[in-house]
Parts: sequence; structure tokens; C-alpha cells
Amino acid sequence: MKAPFDNESTAHRLVTALAKVGLALRTRAWQAAGERGLTPTQTQLLTLLDGGSAPGARLAQLAAGLGVTPATASEAVAALVRKGLVKSERAADDARARDIRLTRAGRQMARRAAGWTDFLRAAADTLEPGEQAVFLRGLVKMIRELQERGEIPVSRMCVTCLYFRPNEHPGEDLPHHCAFVDAPFGDRSLRLDCGDHVVVAPDQSGELWKRFVDRGSDTGSGPSPSPTQ
Ligand code: SF4
Repeated sequence: MKAPFDNESTAHRLVTALAKVGLALRTRAWQAAGERGLTPTQTQLLTLLDGGSAPGARLAQLAAGLGVTPATASEAVAALVRKGLVKSERAADDARARDIRLTRAGRQMARRAAGWTDFLRAAADTLEPGEQAVFLRGLVKMIRELQERGEIPVSRMCVTCLYFRPNEHPGEDLPHHCAFVDAPFGDRSLRLDCGDHVVVAPDQSGELWKRFVDRGSDTGSGPSPSPTQ
């Protein structure tokens, strides 16, 4: 017998669910940014600068990180400079480039603004640890697919990192290895924006991805070949 509610696929339902979460995020982003006299893009820019490992960022980097055009990023930087939250100075290593960095007030604002997603984290906290790990793994796969299709900017995720060794260890809990910190970790610790990320070479990214999604096929058989540094 045909099960009820089979008129649409699970993928379709997932998209509907993600759209509802996206709507909540968009609404909150405008609300939180408006309370601070910023736009969502300006808020994201502050957060991006606060999370960066380099002392200063270039405009092209910021535009790529935000998934906006350089012109939009440039407008946001100019507005933040006027508000005293960001400094834009000539780069020491390139006379044509500018180093963009937070001022002290900008860093404080970035830390305060970072809390605007707390409402969503509270909802994520209600999931069991196992559910969180499965959900995160699924989202990582979707984000990687969107990156491959050029729909969203490439983010600094473990699954695209030179240091990532997927399914290197036996067992379900900590199957992966980060060669940067030389430690095992599990799906629940997969990172989406790691400051130590180094993008893997294009000719090795397919193999890295295959080893991540083929969980269990080589688990327990010893270390698999790693991307060369
Ligand atoms: S360096 Fe960061 S992104 Fe790369 S594998 Fe380690 S934790 Fe993941």
C-alpha cells in the first residue's frame, strides 16, 4: 500500500525546512543588525574580520567570504570606516592593496553582534548529540555540493582541507584526523570555518571527498594515502 504523504520527496521536505530556518535567520539578522545601526552585510563583515587568523584582510577576501561582489563589500567597508569600527590602510607588502582590520570598537561590536544567532543555537542544543553529528555531516555534504556548483563561496571546511584525513581511524566516535593539530576527531567536530584551513589541491579534492563519504570502506585497515603538502 502506498504510504500517506508520499506525494513529495524527502529532499523536497528538507528544502522546505531549510527555507523556514532561512526565513527565521533573515528576519533576526535584520532585526539584530538594525538594533546596532548596521546592515546584515556590515554585521557579517565584522564577524568575518573578528574570526580571521590574519592581522588584516583584503577586499577580495572579504567579498569572497561574504559571497558578495567587491563593490558591495567595498560599500560595507566604507560605511564601517565612517562608523569607526574598521580601519582601511595601505598594505605594507603591496602599494595597490589595502589592509582592512577592526578597530577596538569594531572588535567589541563584532563580539556583541556575534550573539544574534543564539536563538538558533538554542534550538540546535535540543538535538541529541548523535542527531547533531548526523545533521552536521548532512549539512557539510550539502554545503560542499553548493560550493562545487558555484552557488556559495568556498568556506574553510575540514572536507576541503589539506590537513584532513577522513576515516583514518577505526570506530565511529573519532574516525577522522587533523594533521595540523595531530589529533583524531568525529563528525560532530567537523569545522566549517577553520582559521588553520589550507585548501587541498584540486586534483586531490575528489579523492579526499570520496574517502570522507565512503565511511567504513577502509576504516580499520590502517592509514590511507594522504594528500601531499
Ligand atoms: S586544519 Fe582545520 S579545517 Fe583543516 S582538518 Fe584541521 S580542523 Fe579541519
